Amino acid sequence: MSNAIFRVPQPTNEPIKSYAPGTPEREALKAKFKELASLQPDIPMVIDGKAVRTGKVEECRSPHDHSKKLGRFHVGTKKHALDAIKAALKARKSWAATPFHDRAAVFLRAAELLAGPWRQVFNAAAMHTLSKNAYQAEIDAVCELVDFWRFNVKYAQDIYENQPGSLPGMWNRVEYRPLEGFVFAVSPFNFTSISGNLPTAPALMGNAVVWKPCRTTMFAAHFIMELLHAAGLPDGVINMVTGNSSEIGTAVIDHPDLAGVHFTGSTGVFQWMWKRIGENIAKYKTYPRLVGETGGKDFVFMHASADLDCAATALTRGAFEYQGQKCSAASRAYIPQSQWPKLKKKMEEQLGRVKMGSPEDFRNFMNAVIDKAAYDSITGYFPHVKPRNGASFVFGGKASDKKGWFIEPTVIKASKPDFITMREELFGPVLTLYIYPEKKFAETLKICDKTSPYALTGAVLARDRAAIRQASDALIHAAGNFYINDKPTGAVVGQQPFGGSRASGTNDKAGSFLNLIRWVSTRTTKELFVPPADFPYPFMNGN
Ligand code: NAD
Repeated sequence: MSNAIFRVPQPTNEPIKSYAPGTPEREALKAKFKELASLQPDIPMVIDGKAVRTGKVEECRSPHDHSKKLGRFHVGTKKHALDAIKAALKARKSWAATPFHDRAAVFLRAAELLAGPWRQVFNAAAMHTLSKNAYQAEIDAVCELVDFWRFNVKYAQDIYENQPGSLPGMWNRVEYRPLEGFVFAVSPFNFTSISGNLPTAPALMGNAVVWKPCRTTMFAAHFIMELLHAAGLPDGVINMVTGNSSEIGTAVIDHPDLAGVHFTGSTGVFQWMWKRIGENIAKYKTYPRLVGETGGKDFVFMHASADLDCAATALTRGAFEYQGQKCSAASRAYIPQSQWPKLKKKMEEQLGRVKMGSPEDFRNFMNAVIDKAAYDSITGYFPHVKPRNGASFVFGGKASDKKGWFIEPTVIKASKPDFITMREELFGPVLTLYIYPEKKFAETLKICDKTSPYALTGAVLARDRAAIRQASDALIHAAGNFYINDKPTGAVVGQQPFGGSRASGTNDKAGSFLNLIRWVSTRTTKELFVPPADFPYPFMNGN
């Protein structure tokens, strides 16, 4: 047993590779993309380190070519959820007792494997299964996940180092115990990095986890489990189960040993979980920690002093990268009247150059939305866009589901700031604009603050410092991640801790100590070196 106090390596952000023509990474990625296209894995659940196949299977398909099967995964039931809980509770004892440097080393090794030999596997999987272009895959499936693993190890060390003071003759100490029970991690479709982070952040802090990935991401989830196994994660620490969401969700949430939920996804699902946990509250052994990062209706607020080229670029990238399927994607914008004609021209020019299609063709900036349900839900808003409702298409508005789930980059102009697509999360490549008279800057800021129940990301674009200050103050609670003269997407671990409040979640900031602290329960110990030997106090000497 080592008696030294180790320090983890200083983390740095994983550099983003360019994939420009002629680079070695471009060739490697193209080759891996081809290889994965014919791999056809038969993906099991992983419970207690064992592959579990039920024979009931679902296919993994590419959103940009829905006739294309990538492989299949085995679907579990309530029984498998309960088996996974049993395995987690068994693994928890020895994992919780594993020294921090050993736990940390597993995730540091996972980070290096992902940055090195596994890089193009993860990129190609994200391209195939999530329909991400090479750049979007690289910043998510590789760089952000590597950053989560490297930085979380440092944040964990910072937490453990945090100790109380002691008066002479005593020693006060705080231990950061893993939670008593298991953690339920439930991940969304849109980021491989989130799929990787939700189960591993609690595991790093010594917890054992039941992880339910999203069905559309099983092809990528499979590689996460394989990589963690290769990195040396002991059996049973993270157990991956699949199946009907509400069957699995109900079985896990109703379990008395539930100690925490690490969720990212839509507001409705998180609210259902919270409600059910509330109904169950008397039967848990401990109060479950609830961490949920949920929906958004993210805004760009342009002031008349803003640079037009930067505004057009912030909107094009912010609204349409990854088909607007980032929780942080710009989906409503407030544009000053005087600037609108010039901005419109610039946006039309930029959007006219956007190409859409399979990620295999590297010229495509946009690809397909995730599945039929998303396609139907997003295009279901289009019939609302008509003059009678004060709304018109400025750009796009067409879609095709023949080969893949393709929706054009779409810009809607609404004459009322509470038009349906200014309020609701569409989660697709649709941006709605409200043109405001610049004299009403202050009033329009108030409208922006109150229009939607969400508060995830937002941006102000302006050169005028007073306007920036005014917007920043007026929108203080409107966004958990606020940008000045930038698009509202692209938060980087270690630089912009991410999360929102109001209906957007518990704001526990993924990729920061604020998140990790939710996965520990502290024990304070006071030790006296020379305890008193009799009970009277000095004031009792005489009357
Ligand atoms: P979703 O809510 O449909 O699904 C998320 C996960 O919850 C999936 O794994 C799904 O199977 C599971 N689920 C659904 N019902 C369940 C139940 N009853 N019990 C247990 N699990 C259940 O979300 P999605 O479509 O995958 O992702 C898009 C949503 O996620 C958007 O609302 C987006 O804003 C949000 N999101 C938020 C952030 C953030 O950091 N705030 C990041 C990414 C995505």
